[in-house]
Amino acid sequence: MPIRPENRDRYPANWPEISRHIRFVRAGGRCECRGECGRGTHHGPTSELSRCPNRHGQRDYTGRSTVVLTTAHLNHRPEDCAPENLRGMCQGCHLWYDRDHHAETRASRMQVSVVAELEQHDGGLFPHITPTGT
Ligand SMILES: [Zn+2]
Ligand SMILES: [Zn+2]
Repeated sequence: MPIRPENRDRYPANWPEISRHIRFVRAGGRCECRGECGRGTHHGPTSELSRCPNRHGQRDYTGRSTVVLTTAHLNHRPEDCAPENLRGMCQGCHLWYDRDHHAETRASRMQVSVVAELEQHDGGLFPHITPTGT
């Protein structure tokens, strides 16, 4: 769930470590979405085919932007950090996943919220990201 100012204190103090573990240890840097986001661009007969191919720091599957892996709360409750409630998700899947939850929120504001969450994760800068394919 994107962090809104009023939600910041709902996250545990060690959220950055939890999030990092989910994204880079459990997920191995690859989006864990298996169609939960509802985008409809990744679901198939096998688990490998159905998993979003986006990997942190690489071009996304459209080739237009660089993937930033975030951590989504499946039940939209930031204080619930049980592993089964967390999914490492690329920013695209995360935005789509939260779309229904924030049906009243304009897409641009959702984008801002995700950026705020990314800043929470990593200090706002991703100097280690080198776009590929250039
Ligand atoms: Zn994804
Ligand atoms: Zn997805």
